[in-house]
Amino acid sequence: MAKKRSVSPESPEESRLVTPAAQGDEERFDRIFRPLSFDDFIGQEKHKDNLRVYTQAARKRREPLDHILLCGPPGLGKTTLANILAHEMGVKLYVTSGPVIEHKGMLTGILTRLERGDILFIDEIHRLSPAVEEFLYPAIEDFRIDVATGDGAFAESIALDIRPFTLVGATTRTGLLTKPLQERFGVTIRLDFYPVEEIERIALRSARLLGLACDQRGAKELAQRSRGTPRVANRLIRRVRDFAEVEGSGKIDHAIVELTCERLGVDLAGLDEMDRRLLGILIEHYDGGPVGVETLAAALAEARDTIEDVYEPYLLQQGFLGRTPRGRIATRKAYEHLGHPYRGETKQGTLF
Ligand code: ADP
Repeated sequence: MAKKRSVSPESPEESRLVTPAAQGDEERFDRIFRPLSFDDFIGQEKHKDNLRVYTQAARKRREPLDHILLCGPPGLGKTTLANILAHEMGVKLYVTSGPVIEHKGMLTGILTRLERGDILFIDEIHRLSPAVEEFLYPAIEDFRIDVATGDGAFAESIALDIRPFTLVGATTRTGLLTKPLQERFGVTIRLDFYPVEEIERIALRSARLLGLACDQRGAKELAQRSRGTPRVANRLIRRVRDFAEVEGSGKIDHAIVELTCERLGVDLAGLDEMDRRLLGILIEHYDGGPVGVETLAAALAEARDTIEDVYEPYLLQQGFLGRTPRGRIATRKAYEHLGHPYRGETKQGTLF
């Protein structure tokens, strides 16, 4: 039976509804919602089928799984997949993240604790420091670490064998991962936003787990507003539950989802206040762009990383935002969504 050993705190708290990173008391709900088997993990069929084969083959050979890299925006199921892999392999899961491992000593502590076959999950692996990353190379390649002993003239490095384990790395930014690290993973899986039908199934499953009645139209409406992200759907369902209990009949239907989203400022496309502000600034202050991401970050008073990790991926995928070598541009769809007359075409000659 897989046990989860957390060696780090969860992600920092954030307050937006659509923020795909874990918030506040969400860990408690994660325990309710998080699927523990491939059968419960909805969608991403191709990846699931492949991972099933890899786990079965490794179990048959009585070997640890190959190292696996999971890429994709936050909230799409990377941590969940690491949990499922540990569960299916019948091994322990250790969870940590790139910025938490501050020095080699911390990583030595973790690596020497692992039993044969255990899974080490490093979230935000692109944020490992270069020294820690280099220290990790022999560990994942040869299951060996180089430990420094002594001081000054007596300093030497001793190679220490560790038990074969599986590294599951997760990253929201594949582009920031160094080539040598990327190449050390046997398997790379890129998760994309889920289609509405799959989010609908996730919403129905979560409603069932919370003991809530939810009709098909309600689940569909909720799915359409969840920006293709299971975490957002689960968060929204908890808010809809509040409105259903206080202002509705307790049941999740189309009307109560609409009411909740209206109150929370989540529109029909799943965009919230912040998304609309980003597009609004682009259109109203910068004539639709192109605008550098730093300028956008300053105008929104947000960190550049947050803009790139959290806000942009869905706006890009849905075609509200475009990326050019000179910066971000608002698309015709963005103008139409915000009710502005589209001026992009008249600008083509002058700006591009
Ligand atoms: P990530 O690690 O990519 O940020 P998580 O694995 O933490 O995302 O998933 C966020 C939430 O969404 C979890 O509560 C999890 O239960 C749920 N979830 C993610 N993917 C699925 C899925 N395919 N089916 C059902 N629930 C899912």
